[in-house]
Amino acid sequence: IKILAIESSCDETAAAVVVNGRDLRSNVISSQIDLHTLYGGVVPEIASRKHIEKINQVIEQALKEADMTLDDIDAIGVTYGPGLIGALLVGVAEAKALAYARNLPLVPVHHIEGHISANYIENPDLEPPFLCLVVSGGHTHLVRVLDYGKYEILGRTRDDAAGEAFDKVARAIGLGYPGGPKIEKVSHEGNPDAIAFPRAKVGDDVYDFSFSGLKSAVLNYLNGCRMKGIEIVQADVAASFQKAVTDVLVDHAMHAVEEYHADKFAIAGGVASNGVIRAAIEEACKARGVKFYRPSPILCTDNAAMIGAAAYYDFLAGKRAGMDLNAVANLKLGES
Ligand code: ATP
Ligand code: MG
Ligand code: FE
Repeated sequence: IKILAIESSCDETAAAVVVNGRDLRSNVISSQIDLHTLYGGVVPEIASRKHIEKINQVIEQALKEADMTLDDIDAIGVTYGPGLIGALLVGVAEAKALAYARNLPLVPVHHIEGHISANYIENPDLEPPFLCLVVSGGHTHLVRVLDYGKYEILGRTRDDAAGEAFDKVARAIGLGYPGGPKIEKVSHEGNPDAIAFPRAKVGDDVYDFSFSGLKSAVLNYLNGCRMKGIEIVQADVAASFQKAVTDVLVDHAMHAVEEYHADKFAIAGGVASNGVIRAAIEEACKARGVKFYRPSPILCTDNAAMIGAAAYYDFLAGKRAGMDLNAVANLKLGES
C-alpha cells in the first residue's frame, strides 16, 4: 500500500510517500520557522496562508522524490487534528480534493498518533505493545500503545507541555524562538547543576506532569538575579532547566516501565529530538534491560512521514473519511 501523506497542523507544510507504513520513499518538509521567528512564535494566520502557498509544490516534490505519480498512490493520509484550525484546514482540503479527483481512499490521522508512529519507520522490529513518552510543543503524554491505533494514556501534563516550557524559558533568557533547539545548543556550554530548579510532582499522581512551576522557578530566579545584581549565566540557566525537565521525564518514564514490566520504550515529538533527553532515557532503559526506540531528530519534529506510517495502520483497520471530513483543533488521543 503506497500512501501519500499530508501534514499541516502547525508551521511545517509537509508531504511524504510511505509504503506499507515503514518504507519511507520521500519526506518533504517546508518549515516556516524563519517567518515566525520575527514574531517570537507561530502566528496562526500567517501559518495558514503560507501552507496554501506551499502545499502543492511540497506534494509534487514528495511524489517526484519517491519517483512516483498520483497514479501509483493507493491512499491519501492527512492530519485532521489536533493543531491550529486554519493550518489543519489547508491539508484537509487538499487531501479531500486529491482523494475525490483520483477516487482514492482518504485516511484521517491524529497528529499525536503520527508522532508515536514515527518510531515504526526506522525500526522494522518495533510492534505494540510498548510504552511511549510523547513530548511535543502541545503535548506531554505517557502512553501505553496497546496495539496499532489503540492507546491508553497513563499521564499527561496538567499545565504547560514540555516543548512549551522550552519555548517560554528560551524567550525569558533571551534566546528567542524556537526555544528547544536553542536551549539545547547553549546548554552544552553550561553547568546543569549550577541552579537547583524544582522537579515538580503533581500531588500523588505518579504519571502526570507539571511544567509551569518549573517555568515560574526559572522566571523567579531571573528576577532575583536582576534585583540582587547577580550576573545571569544564560548557558547555566539553560543547562539547569533542561536537566530538571530531563529528570522528571526519566523519573515518570521509568516508573511506568517498572509498573507495567515494559520491555520496549519509545519516545516521540519535537522534544524527543533533544540529545540530552534521548541519552538520559536511553541510559535508564539500558540499566533496566529495556529496548529503547527513538525516531531520527527529523522524524521527531513535525513531518508527513509519521502521518504516512500512522495512516497505513489506520487504513488496515478500515478507517476512512468522506468528503465531509473536517479539521478538529482539539482532537483528543483515543477519540479518533
Ligand atoms: P503538537 O505535536 O503537540 O501538536 P507541535 O507539533 O507544535 O505540537 P512538535 O513539532 O512535535 O510540536 O515539536 C515542537 C516542539 O519541540 C517545540 O516546543 C520545540 O521547542 C521543541 N523542540 C524541538 N527541538 C527541540 C530540542 N532539541 N530540545 C528541546 N525541545 C525541542
Ligand atoms: Mg513546528
Ligand atoms: Fe507535532
